[in-house]
Amino acid sequence: MKQPLIEFKNVEKRFGDTVIFKDFNFSVEEGEIVSIIGPSGSGKSTLLRILMTLEGIEGGVVRVAGKPLWHKDTDKGLVPADEKHLHEMRNHLGMVFQHFNLFPHMTVKRNITEAPMCVQGKTKIEANKIADELLELVGLSDKADMYPNSLSGGQKQRVGIARALAMQPAILLLDEITSALDPELVEEVLDVIRNLALKHSFTMLLVTHEMYFAREISDRVCFFDQGAIVEEGEPETLFIHPKEERTQAFLKAYM
Ligand code: ADP
Ligand code: MG
Repeated sequence: MKQPLIEFKNVEKRFGDTVIFKDFNFSVEEGEIVSIIGPSGSGKSTLLRILMTLEGIEGGVVRVAGKPLWHKDTDKGLVPADEKHLHEMRNHLGMVFQHFNLFPHMTVKRNITEAPMCVQGKTKIEANKIADELLELVGLSDKADMYPNSLSGGQKQRVGIARALAMQPAILLLDEITSALDPELVEEVLDVIRNLALKHSFTMLLVTHEMYFAREISDRVCFFDQGAIVEEGEPETLFIHPKEERTQAFLKAYM
């Protein structure tokens, strides 16, 4: 059987005494677009942050491209994979955050070329070429030399997407990337993602509150509540005929 690109197996995650995930299992196949929906505080961002190794875990295993992010040590318990290994893992993942997190003192173009040059050791010429292509992809070629604070929220988020793509990740993680935007700016950002999904068949794991969008682009939608997948399935099934009462109640409030 083909191995999943992302795999959580019997994962346990706590913040102090608060259990976020217990015996949690989840996977994403290469080429799949998976949306996670669910109430606030249910662990959606934590899931993505674990993949980015911004958070650790207390038990189980998380694999990216078949390789674990942590390994078990008899004395120390779970310890991160070695640096070289983690570095390799991080190159498999690109994340876009709700609040852009662009570098304010760098131009748009520099925001995009920074990681390919500093992390991947690309030359300035190579990195600039990638940035030019990506700026065109997100429709911002004319903003290359501007600073983030002179851009609209929608434009900032499109730069955020270009920056994540500059590392040529195998999978794109999107955490409520339109939640901080004024409603009239949401579509221009979703259009970029649509284009990636449809024309570039990118593997994506996205957390979203835009239900119509999740329904439109996903291969699979997972309804999350209290650190567990309550229900998952193809969008038409989950959105139109949800089985679980909790899913029904959640969707009623959103659609
Ligand atoms: P979601 O993204 O679904 O809204 P999160 O993954 O952000 O949920 O959070 C899940 C739970 O974990 C929440 O109860 C939140 O308060 C808690 N939590 C998240 N990050 C931390 C942290 N760094 N320290 C303590 N608790 C946290
Ligand atoms: Mg969140």
